[in-house]
Amino acid sequence: MKFTPAKPALTGETLESLTARLKERGEPAFRAKQILEWVYKKRARSWDDMTNLSKPLRAWLAETFDLLPLSLLFDKQSRDVTDKLLFELGDRSLIETVIIRAPQEGVGLDQSRKTICISPQVGCAMACKFCASGLAGLKRDLNAGEIVAQLLQVCYREDARTPRARMELASFDNIVVMGMGEPLANYDALIEALTILNAEWGLGFGARRITLSTSGLVPKILRLAEEPLGFRLAISLHGATDEVREKIMPVNKAFPLAKLIPAIRAFSEKHGRMVTLEFILIEDINDSLDQARALRDIARDLHAHVNLIPYNTVEGLPWKRPSNTRQEKFADILRHAPVSVTLRREKCHDIDAACGQLRLKTERDRADAA
Ligand code: SAH
Repeated sequence: MKFTPAKPALTGETLESLTARLKERGEPAFRAKQILEWVYKKRARSWDDMTNLSKPLRAWLAETFDLLPLSLLFDKQSRDVTDKLLFELGDRSLIETVIIRAPQEGVGLDQSRKTICISPQVGCAMACKFCASGLAGLKRDLNAGEIVAQLLQVCYREDARTPRARMELASFDNIVVMGMGEPLANYDALIEALTILNAEWGLGFGARRITLSTSGLVPKILRLAEEPLGFRLAISLHGATDEVREKIMPVNKAFPLAKLIPAIRAFSEKHGRMVTLEFILIEDINDSLDQARALRDIARDLHAHVNLIPYNTVEGLPWKRPSNTRQEKFADILRHAPVSVTLRREKCHDIDAACGQLRLKTERDRADAA
């Protein structure tokens, strides 16, 4: 389903496209830069904040564009390191954006490093069996303005908590495209959004601090390798053999490991940087020590980093995480290789932080209320 908003969002415009629109109206070329500066550097929350623009121009902007194409529905703070924002879009669709803090010694949580996890789609078509996001399939792609706006909303929120000395900077340190949806299935809009975030007239956010996570769309991985902006790549592997992977990830039928692994290699050779292999540990599904050994061999061959993630239970799905002892045994096989590995202990169960879960719950509540 395609959604055509009544008005385009300003956050989906580039310097070039906005300059062209303004030129049609007889405005000088520098106006577009001025407007974008209000949006990204000075964080204007309304057109009337843009005090160096004439009233008629502000009125025209208000008629022509939405400043932001989404509104904040919930701001859920966890007792721990992860906060979650639920946004409503113009068609009432819901998406999630997550703020993950890395606690640092001697530094308050508000001051610590922040990674922002954004969503590229509403729902997801990949149908991974363990994931809440794909339970109801894909609703629609997000457009570039909706993707960019998630990060501006985070800036507003974080600026209010930790006024940075220089507001013109982004209020966070890393972006991961790991929320709801498959980033590489919404390739053009996502790259457009990341280009806006990266632009010097946008947030000026470095591509090397942006990671795209994919379930393994091989042709798009190869295309991403050719992008002039050098984004980082993470692969949701979750099975170290085709037999295990295709049981839980239907995408493995079209792109089995014999296709996926060479594509990952091509990407890392092109960029000279480590790719991350994500591996959720699910009890009795992919947590055998044979899987650990097969994963070790793949990671060693690709010089990849492995991120082990104990499974977060999803209401209505039968899967669960293995015991801590099993998780450690699995990790030890990689550590002894040696393969660079992290075993992430999820700390955000209390806010439904696993992929797509807050949205799922809210959609179910809405259905109950209707
Ligand atoms: N479609 C992309 C990005 C979105 S999912 C991808 O597949 O990479 C982001 C990550 O969360 C993926 O690694 C996904 O497999 C993982 N994930 C999904 N459901 C999960 C759950 N219940 N517990 C832990 N990780 C989960």
